[in-house]
Amino acid sequence: MKAPFTLKFLGAARYVTGSCYLLTIGKKRVLLDCGMVQGDDQVKEWHRYKFPFKPESIDLVIISHAHIDHCGLLPLLVASGYKGPILCTNGTRKLLPVLLKDSVFLYLKDLEWKNKRLKRRGKPPMPSVMSEKDVDRVMELADGLPYGKHKAPIPGLELMFSDAGHILGSAIVQLWIKQGQSARHLVFSGDLGNPDTVLMNDPTPVEQADIVLMEGTYGNRDHRPLDDTLEEFAQVLESAFKAGGNVFIPAFALGRTQEILYFLGQLYHQGRLKQQLVFLDSPMAQSITSIYNDNLQRLNRDDTQEMYNQNAGDFESFLPILRMTETVEESMAINRVTQGAIIIAGSGMCNGGRITHHLKHNLWRSQNHLIFVGFQARGTLGRRLVDGATTVKLFGQDIAVKAQVHTLGGFSAHAGQAELLAWAKGIAGQPRFFLVHGEPEALEALQAKLQEEGISAEIPEKGYVAEL
Ligand SMILES: [Zn+2]
Ligand SMILES: [Zn+2]
Repeated sequence: MKAPFTLKFLGAARYVTGSCYLLTIGKKRVLLDCGMVQGDDQVKEWHRYKFPFKPESIDLVIISHAHIDHCGLLPLLVASGYKGPILCTNGTRKLLPVLLKDSVFLYLKDLEWKNKRLKRRGKPPMPSVMSEKDVDRVMELADGLPYGKHKAPIPGLELMFSDAGHILGSAIVQLWIKQGQSARHLVFSGDLGNPDTVLMNDPTPVEQADIVLMEGTYGNRDHRPLDDTLEEFAQVLESAFKAGGNVFIPAFALGRTQEILYFLGQLYHQGRLKQQLVFLDSPMAQSITSIYNDNLQRLNRDDTQEMYNQNAGDFESFLPILRMTETVEESMAINRVTQGAIIIAGSGMCNGGRITHHLKHNLWRSQNHLIFVGFQARGTLGRRLVDGATTVKLFGQDIAVKAQVHTLGGFSAHAGQAELLAWAKGIAGQPRFFLVHGEPEALEALQAKLQEEGISAEIPEKGYVAEL
């Protein structure tokens, strides 16, 4: 007899990015996440990508959160014929257009540049596989749901989002699926937050499940205590001020930037921040920060309360020395400030964006400091700098790296090993565990730790189909 339910692992299986799983409930097909694989050449990634299913054959898409490795393929999915509903939380629905528009914009810019080169070689241009209109179509299909509310979008499926505490709007997806006499409770963890961080709630505990699809990004290690990292951050800022230069922070626009603004605000109110100017030099990060501003009140936390105690209901008033630079001219004008400023600019791994211009103008000055506050993937400029490169190539020029480079590894929006274990152990019903969204080493370490607790977990390969 055919299994009433199957789950196919299409992405983020023994890997971190490209989160995507296909659930079948009888004849119905549901996509959990539709994420992009993040590589260096996005045009190449987009053009060679083929969905391993017919987009029009999908009945429903559910998105766990707005990070591009979980939702980035949505424009391509609608450009390829998907017309059904897209369900996510209200927070994710607000963030989606900002993230997707930025990613499509960067793709079209790179494509234009590639086509210019093809033209010079006498070759025909490559047609674009999607446009900004596809983002508008995604938003027409997208429906937001508050946490904790049940919805039955298609026959045989009921769902509810619980707060994953990872970024604004991030969800643990709980699904109750039914087919004939069979019923299962499937829980997809999404990305689980780090309870030790600010602004977000702790991941919601799940009481019971039959099947758990769980992330294991940090399955092999625990994070350093946040207080130690913050102390180091404060010390680097102080020594940078004494050295008479500027501080550059390549930052990820969604989540990490808002945390850094919060920490800077704390130091400012403690009287420990010597710098008198902070620039947020990223239009995307500014849009996201204003969405965070609108939603902070909903979080009943000590840290957001601290902001309100300072009579500051938003990041701009919590950190009054914050300047938002919108235009390219304003961004270029920052170059005239040679000391006493902190410049936060994207992209987080320095593989594009305004930070690359700042690095060109500032890396060669020894009084400057560069602080990495997030993961740097292999093959990116950020990784080369973290690994100690003495010169780097920027805009065709060799630039000496004289600035001091610091890596603060303690900021993380993901649960560490201990928190992952505690979350898994709290789920009653002896569920079947699948570990995803992690490098093989991380997932295997988590699997071994779970085994010690009497929980056996599988690590599916990409393409594997589990019968539930
Ligand atoms: Zn994420
Ligand atoms: Zn992720």
